[in-house]
Amino acid sequence: MIKTLKQFSKAQIMAWLDAIKDPEIPVISIADLGVLYDVQVEKTTVEVSILPTYSGCPAMDSIQEDIIKHLQKQGIEQVRVKIINSPAWTTDRITEQGRQQLHAYGIAPPQSKTGQPIACPQCQSTNTTCISQFGSTACKALYRCEDCLEPFDYFKCHV
Ligand SMILES: [Zn+2]
Repeated sequence: MIKTLKQFSKAQIMAWLDAIKDPEIPVISIADLGVLYDVQVEKTTVEVSILPTYSGCPAMDSIQEDIIKHLQKQGIEQVRVKIINSPAWTTDRITEQGRQQLHAYGIAPPQSKTGQPIACPQCQSTNTTCISQFGSTACKALYRCEDCLEPFDYFKCHV
């Protein structure tokens, strides 16, 4: 009996990849973060292109491993992950759903317009102060809300 190699559709793979979350912010998928760029299916090989976020972000290695492991679990043996640098990733690539997920997680999403005040994800007050340009990771800055006095992470704008 000839074993037929199963073909996978791009849409199916995209749906599977949607389950992969950012290792640093486990509520946002790599698709909503704008890191997942493209999927190419060639016979039985799947090539996933991803855009690196902040250069040197250690999360990229972990994302790469997650993609390979996750797709292999679905029965795809040949998985390649290609890191591409063009177009450049910017925080504008974060989807509206992704911004809401960041907010719900307690991280102020990046402002699309500069000069806008950063709103506290707890009480929505814009009376906030930047405490440090470096929060829990290099991608985030640490802010404090002057109204509820809660510190919070702001996902820095990156263009
Ligand atoms: Zn607040």
